[in-house]
Amino acid sequence: MDMNTFFKNAIDGLKEAGNYRVFCDLERKSGAFPRALRHRADGSTQDVTVWCSNDYLGMGQHPVVTAAMKEAIDRCGAGAGGTRNISGTNHYHVELERELADLHGKESALIFTSGYVSNWAALGTLASKIPSIIVYSDALNHASMIEGIRHARCEKRIFKHNSPEDLRRQMAADDPSRPKLVAFESVYSMDGDIAPIAEFCDVADEFGAMTYLDEVHAVGLYGSRGGGVAEREGVMDRLTVIEGTLGKAYGVMGGYIAASSLLCDFVRSFASGFIFTTALPPSLAAGAAASIRHLKASELERAKQRRNVEKLRARLDAHGIPHLPNPSHIVPVMVKNAAKCKFLSDLLLDNYGIYVQPINYPTVPVGTERLRFTPTPLHTDADIDHLVGALNDLWSRCALAREVA
Ligand code: PMP
Repeated sequence: MDMNTFFKNAIDGLKEAGNYRVFCDLERKSGAFPRALRHRADGSTQDVTVWCSNDYLGMGQHPVVTAAMKEAIDRCGAGAGGTRNISGTNHYHVELERELADLHGKESALIFTSGYVSNWAALGTLASKIPSIIVYSDALNHASMIEGIRHARCEKRIFKHNSPEDLRRQMAADDPSRPKLVAFESVYSMDGDIAPIAEFCDVADEFGAMTYLDEVHAVGLYGSRGGGVAEREGVMDRLTVIEGTLGKAYGVMGGYIAASSLLCDFVRSFASGFIFTTALPPSLAAGAAASIRHLKASELERAKQRRNVEKLRARLDAHGIPHLPNPSHIVPVMVKNAAKCKFLSDLLLDNYGIYVQPINYPTVPVGTERLRFTPTPLHTDADIDHLVGALNDLWSRCALAREVA
């Protein structure tokens, strides 16, 4: 078959199913978060307010972070100059790893080029190198964890989402002498629900299993120093590995694991996704370290974000606009129809200057299509009023069901 025909058919298939992704071409405005300039295909531009950013606290624009990055560029230049092994380890990387180990109360930490790569490389390495290991994976784990486990070709069990009972049932049926690892997340990004971490640790302890917690949507946001949900719940020491990102609440880019010195040394020594790739630019490491330090000391951003999340939820309730109740900072407004979800998102953008990407299948199950809002400390009361006013208008226009509070 002609390859161009093959590519075109595959893309047409996505388009017919409504799964073809169209990116919003944004120019973030430095110092003006959450404002951005949208570039349209015809060359014109529009001022928009971003409502779906994973720069959850606006740290990507924080002067402490941008100043640290500029200073590092002035001192070290642009790139790292090599892999970590061959000339690419910069002192900023070493300092960042110390900062991360301290954040999670672990002996050591190891940084990767993204959260995706850290999950893929760390889980892939542990699960492929530990003989006869069984990996237990939450049914809603992120693609990066799934790919890491798949890559390892180890035996795996999928347990029901957030169910320690199902995990216990499956572990009890397995050979007690085999090494075991339980992989799960703290905050799930699409529903915003939170795992019962302590209960999972109890089950893991019962069967002598290691635990691997993805705190990508929680680091910087939960815990008195931003150490994540495990810090808030006082269970960091019960987890074998805590994995996180530098690209969401910390506003920069990169991923990491924090664990014992021996485990980090093992991953450092065997993970191809760590070994055979250029190290992060020193400026990113400097920016991330500045962001982590700032959020260790400052409660201000977290408190303002919580207030804005509560305010948005209350205003949605007042208008009967249905949203998933959850204990996190993620506010999923449920449209439950793919075409209407896309239509709402287009109208919010074109008519109101509100940018929120529609979340459709396969990211979420059919019939649970939604607009996923992430209020930040930098959204104003006027932004929230503008958003809820627009949603209220469009809810009527699209004849969508309201929920009576
Ligand atoms: N884990 C989870 C749960 C995620 O949602 C994501 C990305 N959205 C990642 C890992 C990957 O992190 P990063 O964006 O830093 O690659």
